[in-house]
Formats: sequence, structure tokens, C-alpha cells
Amino acid sequence: MENTCLFCQIVSGKIPSEKVYEDAQTYAFLDIHPVNPGHTLVIPKMHAENIYDIPQTHFCDLMETVRRLAPLVKETLNADGINIAMNNDSAAGQLVFHAHIHIIPRFDKDGYQHWRGTPYAEGEMTTIGNALRKSLADEN
Ligand code: 5GP
Ligand code: ZN
Repeated sequence: MENTCLFCQIVSGKIPSEKVYEDAQTYAFLDIHPVNPGHTLVIPKMHAENIYDIPQTHFCDLMETVRRLAPLVKETLNADGINIAMNNDSAAGQLVFHAHIHIIPRFDKDGYQHWRGTPYAEGEMTTIGNALRKSLADEN
């Protein structure tokens, strides 16, 4: 996978990146097309496509690096807030299929809109809640 995956090649140094941090399991670098300056990507060094195939321990390591870096990104960029995001599948906007977490500095007046939800139809919330609880109960 290392030969073809963009982020594996960033980890190995074959493709240059603006590295922010690295440890034995994770690597963090600046996104080349930042939503705002300081937009950082945190990735596991071991290849996984996304949330569906990343082993639990690697995901925990990944999130621990995110937990450490997020306040530092906020402070260093003098941001007013931080979004933490992970896109999974093309439908959710995933472009690079090596798992990654976005740390995005946000500013009060940066103009980006939050998602706007729509209310459930009558009974729909209960139906979906039941379906999710059944999935969990059926999980092996
Ligand atoms: P996704 O949409 O998959 O969650 O986000 C992929 C991110 O990777 C995008 O925000 C994109 O700007 C960033 N990206 C794509 N190619 C490169 C690259 O070669 N170097 C860096 N630093 N970021 C990249
Ligand atoms: Zn990879």
C-alpha cells in the first residue's frame, strides 16, 4: 500500500510534507489546501482506509495525538475554536483513503456555516433509535 497511498508516502518521506508532530504510531502535518491556516491532518502511520478498518488501538493512538495537538493549534493560530472532523467514504467527502483526522482552526468571523439539520418526521426518531439499538444488540 505504501507505494500507491499518498499519505503512506508522506509518512515514509517520499512525498514532502510540513510535519507538525510524529511519534511511533502517528504523524501530523499541515493540510495543503487549508480551510483556515493551521489546518492540520493527523494520521496513523500504519495504513488503514478509514473508520471501518482501523484497529482499535491505532484509532486510540490517533485520537490521543488529536487531543494533544488541538489546543496547541488553537493557541498557536490564535483561533476562536477548533473543528475535529473525519470523512469516511466518498459520500462523506473522503478524498484520500488513508484514515485521517482534520484539526481545523475556526475564527468567529471566518464565514463558514455549520450544518443545518432538518427535524424528524413524526415517529421517525424512535424508528431510527430502535434500528440503531437493534444493530448494537445484534453485534457479534
Ligand atoms: P478528505 O477529504 O479525504 O477528508 O481530506 C483529504 C485532505 O488531504 C484534503 O483536505 C486535502 O487538502 C489534503 N491533501 C491532499 N493531498 C495532499 C498532499 O499532497 N499534501 C497535504 N499536505 N495535504 C493533502
Ligand atoms: Zn496509506
